[in-house]
Amino acid sequence: MHCLLYMHKDSKKIQSHDKFVGIHYNRTREYFFRGRQMSKLYFRYGAMNCGKTTNLIQVAYNYKERGMNSIIIKPRTDTKGADTVVSRLGIVKEVDLLIEKEQNIFHEVSDLMQHSGAIDCILVDEVQFFNSRHIDELFEVAVKLSIPTICYGLRTDFQMQGFEGSERLLLLAHSIEELKTVCTCGKKALLNGRKIDGDFVFEGEQVAIDGENHVEYQSLCPKCYFRLRDSEEE
Ligand SMILES: [Zn+2]
Repeated sequence: MHCLLYMHKDSKKIQSHDKFVGIHYNRTREYFFRGRQMSKLYFRYGAMNCGKTTNLIQVAYNYKERGMNSIIIKPRTDTKGADTVVSRLGIVKEVDLLIEKEQNIFHEVSDLMQHSGAIDCILVDEVQFFNSRHIDELFEVAVKLSIPTICYGLRTDFQMQGFEGSERLLLLAHSIEELKTVCTCGKKALLNGRKIDGDFVFEGEQVAIDGENHVEYQSLCPKCYFRLRDSEEE
């Protein structure tokens, strides 16, 4: 499993580093080996329908299979599926924390740990809808609470502009990974096209939820995106 491998690699790194720095770091080493080593913040981004939620649900399953506890966090902004995450393959999983704009994620996770015990991994869906303060809080969760935190989301909106949460993650995440998908022409899809009643639109609010108010999205390669946008302007 991805982040478990990372954790393993990290502890090896600390071990070999300790050989060189010697006895003065013994206390630090004990601290790390008690399981308090820093975990990482991951950003797995990709265009619409690239399998982000499917990947998230798979990771949750992997943890469960090993007898470990993962939780799912989602911003309230994403009304799709209410308090569940829904993969395009039809798998539905309940969200543990639905975060409001004014809530502090670090405090919410700390509270949850006090009530329900250890958390081995945090999975965040639709992370682009979080604000930059929320991302800083997720970063603190990974570092201070030592919980690997894997965030899934879009990089850009239907006008090629960055989402606040994604921009902050691109600056802070320890690990950034692209989940790939293809355009209808077969090229790699990098961008997201918005359709209303089946027609591509290039003006409007940044947030319009997939499947609501006749809105749907299609992942596009840049060439097809520009072709569609140019034909719209004509
Ligand atoms: Zn294309």
